[in-house]
Amino acid sequence: MRKRLSVLSVPIDVITMKETIQRVQELMNEPGLHHVVTANAEMVMLAKGNPILYSILEDASIVTPDGAGVLWAAEQNNEHLPERVTGIDVTRELFSIASKQNIPVYCLGAAPGVAKRAVENLEREVGPLQIVGIHDGFFNTDEEQSIIGDMAKAKLIFVALGVPKQEIWIKEHLSHLSGVVAVGIGGSFDVIAGNIPRAPEWMQNNRLEWLYRLYLEPKRIGRMMAIPKFMFTVLKNKR
Ligand code: UDP
Repeated sequence: MRKRLSVLSVPIDVITMKETIQRVQELMNEPGLHHVVTANAEMVMLAKGNPILYSILEDASIVTPDGAGVLWAAEQNNEHLPERVTGIDVTRELFSIASKQNIPVYCLGAAPGVAKRAVENLEREVGPLQIVGIHDGFFNTDEEQSIIGDMAKAKLIFVALGVPKQEIWIKEHLSHLSGVVAVGIGGSFDVIAGNIPRAPEWMQNNRLEWLYRLYLEPKRIGRMMAIPKFMFTVLKNKR
């Protein structure tokens, strides 16, 4: 039975990494498009002010707790989320399953060449992959039509266009697919391609990954102001 809790009214699944991967495998055999969202504090704040994103989260097949802020917010209301289930970890695990089970995969997003490099790195880690298409995240309408056409050959679709563009794009363009799982993965191709290093383990363990990202990309400061706003709102609304 699916268990969800709400963080500032935004639904989040009480789910572990292992359960997420198991569920995705089941969903590939169930009719309809299955949207997997990995939600962090920034996304929760965005969803509060964006009814389209909010309804996508409500309808999603899985919303994982991606981010220390979401775990912390649940604790403030004496609720418990077992662990972070991050976009990057979900991506790596699903590619590993895709290789083992020869699942057809489509990769959309990031700057030209990045997803291709990410796939090459992944193949070194997990073995050969059945990639039915790769396209960067900067396309015109004609290219978009051929991307959507090619996606019909996939069972697993990764979309890296940033939040909330990727979630809205999946909803608007892929709802006709069936027996397919689509995951919005933000900057994961950049990380796997080696463009952006991941935070050192001690920072991840101390819930400081956000600080490392800020150190690498100081221009994120504007977006990251969502984090203190999120914390303030959680404390103000403590049940
Ligand atoms: N991106 C893209 N097309 C766009 C806008 C962004 O492919 O029109 C890509 C961008 O190159 C980057 C990713 O989307 O690879 C967004 O990464 P970010 O770390 O900002 O993701 P978020 O924090 O929003 O999950």
